[in-house]
Amino acid sequence: MQVTDPTSNASAPTDGSERQFNFSAGPAVLPEEVLLEAKNELPVYDHVGASVMEISHRSAAYDKIEESAREHMKKLLGLSDDWHVLFLQGGASMQFYQVPLNFLPEDGSADYVITGRWGTKAIKEARRVGDVRVAASSEDDDFSHVPPVEEWDLNPDASYVHITTNETVNGNQFQKDPNLDVPVVTDASSELLSRPMDLDGYGMIYAGAQKNVGPAGVTIVLIHDDFLQQRKQPLPTMLDYGTHAAKRFNTPPVFPIYMVEKVLRWLDDLGGVDAIHAINQRKSQKLYNAIDGSDFYRGTVDEDSRSMMNVTFRLVEEDLEPVFIKKAKENGLLSLGGHRTVGGMRASLYNALPEEAVDTLVAFMKEFERTHG
Ligand SMILES: *Cc1c(COP(=O)(O)O)cnc(C)c1O
Repeated sequence: MQVTDPTSNASAPTDGSERQFNFSAGPAVLPEEVLLEAKNELPVYDHVGASVMEISHRSAAYDKIEESAREHMKKLLGLSDDWHVLFLQGGASMQFYQVPLNFLPEDGSADYVITGRWGTKAIKEARRVGDVRVAASSEDDDFSHVPPVEEWDLNPDASYVHITTNETVNGNQFQKDPNLDVPVVTDASSELLSRPMDLDGYGMIYAGAQKNVGPAGVTIVLIHDDFLQQRKQPLPTMLDYGTHAAKRFNTPPVFPIYMVEKVLRWLDDLGGVDAIHAINQRKSQKLYNAIDGSDFYRGTVDEDSRSMMNVTFRLVEEDLEPVFIKKAKENGLLSLGGHRTVGGMRASLYNALPEEAVDTLVAFMKEFERTHG
């Protein structure tokens, strides 16, 4: 069969040679090795006579993929066997509702710490389910910092405390994992596997895969068994975490999970979370140094709360920002525009973004300042 759609990509090289530096906040850059491996396996997966998208989700070949993904996730984050690793659908946004549906009892309450756009969306969904409190918020400060845990107004009887350890739009990040008297639930969509995590305080960690772990279409949910057992009953089958912890209930998003498995192996081969953390710290420090070292650029987040993953910054002369973003794109630096709700610039420096991309961006910033400053 010949594909003759004139809008097809047929003339683009298939070896990845036209790939540019991609600073997108999500869906985001994937390791080139992973893409090329998937490309090679696309028509026929591991001698099974069909692609991975065309085989049963109950087959031995698929079992192996999902098992490997689960085992690599546990190894990379140091999760004990008390943790369930679930691959769900509906994105992180579904979790905003599913978490309170499972864990916010009718006569109970949950605490939320609001440090940006995503936490704001999370609490909105929780309010549909029950009683929630804002334990801390930096909204009055345009989310330019993460309120220190000593300042949180916590309810000791809360069912859980929900936080967003990295706020993708606002560019702030927790510098320490909180360990409280009640289980902590974090939306780690834009930082999962970018750094080691201190798991002790967490009941649950969730992330849409498309920022740092894989393509869109699968949501990673890590849930401690003690916390899982506290969920309400009965619940709608598909929205009950227990359903998915017990067995493969329905067809999972096979292809995204297959890609996640490759990304996890890539990260493991690279030396794991400690190794990538060191690289991520170096990458972000280079960019923050460039911002701080000039009167032409300015950061939007307090130094003690800055994100290693999503670096948000402005030009002092804001009128020049569209020119900066356009010129950057012409120089092979993609997706440097800030989120539409906040403007400015944002460079997302996820695991798969090569350090060379940051060096190229820093050089571009110096040149742009020289010619426009
Ligand atoms: C992108 C993002 C979301 C939304 O994820 P979806 O998978 O699109 O629902 C939620 N929280 C954070 C922190 C994000 O970065």
